[in-house]
Order: sequence, then C-alpha cells, then structure tokens
Amino acid sequence: MYRPLENFVTKHIKLFIPGPIEVSDKTFRAFTTPMVGHRGASFQELYADLQPKLQQLFYTKNPVLLSTSSAWGIMEGAIRNLVRPGKKLLCCMNGAFSDKWFDVAQSNGISVEKVQVAWGQPIEAHLVEAKLQEGGFDAITVIHNETSTGTMSPLTDIAAIVRKFPETMLIVDTVSSLSVVPVKMDELGLDVMLAGTQKALALPPGMSVFGVSARAFERAKTVPNRGYYFDFMEFQKNHEKNMTPATPSIPHIFALQSKMNEILEEGLDRRFARHMAMAQMTRQWVASHGFKLFPKAGFESVSLSCVANSHNIDVAAWIKRLKERYFCIIDGGYGKLKGATFRISHMGDETLHTISQLLKWLEDTLES
Ligand SMILES: *Cc1c(COP(=O)(O)O)cnc(C)c1O
Repeated sequence: MYRPLENFVTKHIKLFIPGPIEVSDKTFRAFTTPMVGHRGASFQELYADLQPKLQQLFYTKNPVLLSTSSAWGIMEGAIRNLVRPGKKLLCCMNGAFSDKWFDVAQSNGISVEKVQVAWGQPIEAHLVEAKLQEGGFDAITVIHNETSTGTMSPLTDIAAIVRKFPETMLIVDTVSSLSVVPVKMDELGLDVMLAGTQKALALPPGMSVFGVSARAFERAKTVPNRGYYFDFMEFQKNHEKNMTPATPSIPHIFALQSKMNEILEEGLDRRFARHMAMAQMTRQWVASHGFKLFPKAGFESVSLSCVANSHNIDVAAWIKRLKERYFCIIDGGYGKLKGATFRISHMGDETLHTISQLLKWLEDTLES
C-alpha cells in the first residue's frame, strides 16, 4: 500500500502550522487514482459528482468552480473580472493577506482604495459603509479569516452593508474559514467566495475552489482585458460541460472528491462543532499559561490561534525543541509578527485527541 507519510530515512514532521496543513494518507491515496483525460466522460462524471457537494459546503446554488492555482490566482482573477475601467476597488486591510490584495490590485493597474485597521483588529461594517458611500466602487475585497493574525471579521455585518450598494461586487476570501465555520454564500449575498485547498480542506496546495454569483458573471461580461487563465466567462462556459477551461490538476480533483465525501459523512454541523471545540481547548491552554490571544477579544479565529508572545520566550528555539522531540511544528509568527506571536493551527483533520496531544507537547517543550 502506498503510504507517503512513512518515511524511513527521516521522520515526517507533522504540520500544526496554519497552512499548508497536515494531509492524511487517505487523501494522498486519492491523489494516486489513475489518470483520466480532462475532456472525457470520466472527468465529466467526477466534476458533476463534486458539484452538488461543493454547493452544499458553500450553501449556494451558484456554480462552484475549480481552479488549478493557489488562492492568489482567484484573488487576482476576481478583481480583474469585476472592476470596470474608470471604476474603483475597495480593499479591506487588517493583516498580511488583505494588505497584499491592495498591492496586487495596484500592480494590475486597478484604481484601488482602502479601509485599513491595525493587524489583529477586525474589519468593522461601519467603516466599510462610510467608504462605500463615497461611490464609484465596482467591488470590495474582504478576508473573512486573516490567517496572519488569527482574526475573524464579522462577515455577516459586512455583507449586510455591502448589499445596500448593488453596483459593488462582494469578493470574500474564505481560504482559512471554509469548512471551519458556516459561510452561507447565498444568504449573505456574496458574489465571489474563494478558498485554496491547503488550509482547512487539508489537501496539498495547488488548487482553489470558488463560487461566482449570477450578478458577477453578468459584470464580468462587461469588463475588458480579463485575461484568459482566470476569465470567469471561460470558467462558466466550461462549467456547463462539467469541465475546466485548461487542463486541471486532476489528482487534486480526485482528492477533493474524497475529502468532500469525508466532510459530508461527518456532517457540516458536526465538523463546525469539532473545530469550535478544538479552538476552545487551545484557547484554554493559552489562558492557563498566562498568554493572551493576539486578535481583539471577540474576533478570534476558530481555525487557528494566534498568540501574543507576552512572556518574551524564544519562539524559534521552542519550535526547534518541539520538532526535535515530537516531530511536529507550530508557526513562529507571520511577517512582521515573527517572534512576537506564535500560531497554532487546529483545522482540517485534527481532533480533540490530536490537539490535546499537541498541547501536552507544547507544554513539555516550553522551557528548555
Ligand atoms: C494562505 C492564504 C492565502 C494565500 O494562499 P496561496 O495559497 O498562497 O495563494 C490567502 N488568503 C488567506 C486568508 C490565506 O490564509
């Protein structure tokens, strides 16, 4: 049997970093399904089987499309598809990924403005409303769960505000929240909802899933210079035939089918409850060791815990001990928060059992 996680030369280092996360043997086995042609009936059956399952996860009747790219492909593609010449984009910024989306817009020559708060603060709906009232915004980008700071923004409130502005397409990154907490695309009125596969879906990196509303397809039709690889019209045309525009990463799609079956067998509500329980267990450990979470209280991520290094411990040395003694790693802080925070991922296939084990290991290695 094919077992990639058993490496007899060096022991596998289990990932408790918030992406890419640990991938199960079962998922890797699905990856090795013998190849099929992407213009044949076998592929069309695979695609068609996946569609209602993804729609269930997205709580949508919109098509959920498959892109062979990491999330940034669709993050860039969405703004190129939805902002007309002479119109503006609004980027909500509160961490590394949301800040970068602004830069990506600028590098595409898109006229872009910002709603910006400090890292660790959530995006508040009233800030978005004040900015949108200035007018001229064809789209807005929001990151639901800022993985760099472990902060979850109040998406329901934000979406309710944005929906008062019918011209403004609401593009939401759920890269690290999809399948962790319910995000109901249709109920919230999201126009693009996207996620990469290497966060909570626990697949290897290299593929993204994204839902697109009818309004967003209508808009895309009117926008020139959408390019080819991420052209929403190409995706729509091919979707109708249960296909993707270019040759996709077919192994990822087999693995996604296996993962979606697993997710629906567990049941969405039970999956959300499991993630909440893992987050609570981790938060308790954090508090009982005298640490505080980095994000503003009330906006803590359920997918990962970003902890302020208030005891000034040598985070890098701690993680080194963890790796050497227990063959796993957590993350030592993202970008400018390196060393000042550490991040513990508790999403995907983890359970209360594996997280409680990790917390014991963290405890054991905390002091040298
Ligand atoms: C990881 C991540 C991304 C970027 O994903 P890539 O796979 O590097 O394209 C974007 N947004 C969020 C919230 C993320 O966590």
